Amino acid sequence: MALLELEAVTAFYGASQALFGVGLTVGEGECLALLGRNGMGKTTTIRAITRMLPHRGGRIVFDGHDLGRLPSHRAAQLGIGLVPEGRRCFPNLTVEENLTAAARPGPWDRAAVARLFPRLEERRRQRAASLSGGEQQMLAIGRALMTNPRLLILDEATEGLAPVVRQEIWVAIRKLKSDSGFAILVVDKSLKELRAVADRFSVLEKGESVWTGAGDSLTGDLVERYLGV
Ligand code: ATP
Repeated sequence: MALLELEAVTAFYGASQALFGVGLTVGEGECLALLGRNGMGKTTTIRAITRMLPHRGGRIVFDGHDLGRLPSHRAAQLGIGLVPEGRRCFPNLTVEENLTAAARPGPWDRAAVARLFPRLEERRRQRAASLSGGEQQMLAIGRALMTNPRLLILDEATEGLAPVVRQEIWVAIRKLKSDSGFAILVVDKSLKELRAVADRFSVLEKGESVWTGAGDSLTGDLVERYLGV
């Protein structure tokens, strides 16, 4: 059984429908890349999984629990760790406080996060607002890890970062995949980097799942049709 399974999920912002039938699975230890052009519903799908935007139709099952039947705070406790678009750390708290505030029992503690991102340890007494964009992104990933999730969701984790910093983040993501055996759901624009980490790809178009498969079958004309590059 998959760790996460979405089946024909629909979701609305008020009266406006954003998801028209999203279906995907993420298995234990698997990395799924969610792709699609701007506005196709990637972030909304993530909001539905994390219960920020409750879905209306279809089913979302995580670790055997039907999330539609659980209150949102219970869903978070099941072990879904989110690195949201735009990072969203607490700007006035220090690095250390940001990490500690997220902590739940498990192997990912401050020492483990410091091994992954030594720079965060060096800056532990700095306010999050004073960090560089790349460091804030590391902190956002560190916070998600401190919740000791079973599924890590990364929404545009490298957006707006300098190429060298992007590389650092990708190295960390690849390490998480290979060393920790996390299940990962990742949204990003870099197909090249995604190919290096994702086991499978799932494409959204206009709020609907239109293609799923392995990276090597995501070839030129599919890329052109669905991603428009
Ligand atoms: P991007 O790559 O630009 O982040 P995306 O694939 O993540 O795009 P979503 O942000 O999920 O796309 O948007 C899906 C649809 O829902 C779009 O039509 C968008 O305009 C709409 N939408 C997104 N957020 C809201 C909101 N808060 N209120 C109303 N409509 C929204």
